[in-house]
Amino acid sequence: MLQLSGLSYRYPNAAGAQLSVPAFSLARGEHAVILGPSGCGKSTLLHLIAAILTPQQGTLRVAGTDLAALSPRAADAWRGATVGFLPQKLALVASLTVRENLLLPAYAIGRAADTTRADKLLDTLGLADKASAKPHQLSQGQQQRVAIGRALFNQPALLLADEPTANLDDESCTAAIGLLTSQAEANDASLVIATHDARVLAALPGAKVLRLQAPAKEAACPG
Ligand code: ADP
Repeated sequence: MLQLSGLSYRYPNAAGAQLSVPAFSLARGEHAVILGPSGCGKSTLLHLIAAILTPQQGTLRVAGTDLAALSPRAADAWRGATVGFLPQKLALVASLTVRENLLLPAYAIGRAADTTRADKLLDTLGLADKASAKPHQLSQGQQQRVAIGRALFNQPALLLADEPTANLDDESCTAAIGLLTSQAEANDASLVIATHDARVLAALPGAKVLRLQAPAKEAACPG
């Protein structure tokens, strides 16, 4: 599902240090947690895995595809069909209903709007009665569930989640990780969570761990 080797990345025109990623692999159906303190490159690594950023060095195979072989346009199509992304800032579209937010990934890759699938997914997420609501009418936890449904809508092989437990109490943290895991497995996807939250490992004991170090040029990593 995932093979990383000799991967390094530095933001263009940025004075920041280079992110170096230890070799790592993940089989289909396995889950992973990317751990490390804030600012050490976890989000950046998720963006590399999603082919949003391109590494300066190293190889990255995701779901059988060598990302270096993709043109920018091919990368967009590949990402839309292969990767679901749960960002830390959920970025739901305020003017659309919950159901329409779920359908967005299908539109993005030119698929017909499958409202039956949207409603089924909303049902499994406990949001059946919220299909016609607008995001601002939902609680934070409900909004996160919509974003999980949106990330899974195209049945991606890989579900990436960026700090999904930030600001959650212990009980909500366990519930969020349980929901992400069960939904990933119901959709036959591998789950990769980037977090600085040690509770995530406890909630996902079978996961493989990829630990990122503080960047070499910085004396200490904030957070
Ligand atoms: P984490 O997810 O572990 O908190 P990030 O991947 O967000 O870390 O950031 C890693 C480093 O890259 C930080 O020093 C951050 O300031 C820097 N960084 C993040 N995004 C950008 C960007 N778009 N341009 C330049 N530097 C960035």
